[in-house]
Amino acid sequence: MGDRSRASGAATGDTGAAPLRATGGAILLDGKALAAKVRAGVALRAARFTTRAGRPPGLAVVRVGEDPASAVYVRNKLKASREAGIASFAHDLPASVSEAQLLALIGELNRDARVDGILVQLPVPAGVDANRVMDAVDPAKDVDGFHPANTGLLAQKRPRLRPCTPYGVIRLAQEYGIALPGMRATVVGASNIVGRPMALELLLARATVTVCHTGTRDLKSEVERAELVVAAVGKAGFIPGDWIRPGAAVFDVGINRTPSGKLVGDVDFEPAARRAGWITPVPGGIGPMTIAMLLTNTVEAAEAKHAPRADLPP
Ligand code: NAD
Repeated sequence: MGDRSRASGAATGDTGAAPLRATGGAILLDGKALAAKVRAGVALRAARFTTRAGRPPGLAVVRVGEDPASAVYVRNKLKASREAGIASFAHDLPASVSEAQLLALIGELNRDARVDGILVQLPVPAGVDANRVMDAVDPAKDVDGFHPANTGLLAQKRPRLRPCTPYGVIRLAQEYGIALPGMRATVVGASNIVGRPMALELLLARATVTVCHTGTRDLKSEVERAELVVAAVGKAGFIPGDWIRPGAAVFDVGINRTPSGKLVGDVDFEPAARRAGWITPVPGGIGPMTIAMLLTNTVEAAEAKHAPRADLPP
């Protein structure tokens, strides 16, 4: 049963304060607070790395075209890197750039010794094959965790660089003592960047995992029996609150803007929070965790250069 009695202790950060609750009683999974704590830890590791290596960890962020949401995400990622003591290298390319030019830039970044992590902000413009771009990133610098080699390692239970959003969900669940082993988990959405790696992360954490997508026959009943739900569809209020099993843990990855300009998730928050045991707010839930895990991956990629893992391909 996915109720709060399964938790080994709800996290309250270092303050010992009672966790925040939504109207109706669900514990609010405070991604913003945990992200701040994770980023402080990254800053310490980055400082130690800088002393040892004589240079800071480096993150290259490539943006192609003028997608306004991408511009905001990239700005936030660059700011967070600087604050953690990670050197950032921003590459803003026009939408007219050819795939060959983009691949040439990635080749340069792969060879650049100051760059430990490479991120290509998606989506890329029409005419550029996103798969070919992701395949071109050195897997050891793939801080988004999208390269097939990293997906494969995650599938084989030996993760290296883990996809940031799913990794953030797991980190948040762990922080709040949500006992994942044996839990009946349903992931709604099966994209390469969220849904699929989310399922692999939950499997790694020993949950019993169902993945739903446009081919799913009875989504309602799949969600209703879930003790943990991850929603990653990209449709505002797509999951009605009364589908949520009482006491379930709800992780809402969706980021949608309503006609009035408000940011909302894929789950109808208020009614869901009246039934859930735990729930992430949007904004302030998974979004900040995604950035925190990107920084974690960057410092890990930098450290791994000096201490490569013997169980991984070079
Ligand atoms: P996507 O469009 O690539 O994938 C959506 C998935 O939803 C698909 O697998 C599709 O099969 C499934 N889906 C669509 N309609 C469905 C239906 N009627 N029934 C069942 N499944 C259905 O999207 P994505 O890149 O995975 O992103 C999903 C959402 O998460 C978006 O809102 C995106 O903005 C958000 N996102 C947030 C973060 C974050 O940091 N919080 C990171 C990445 C993506």
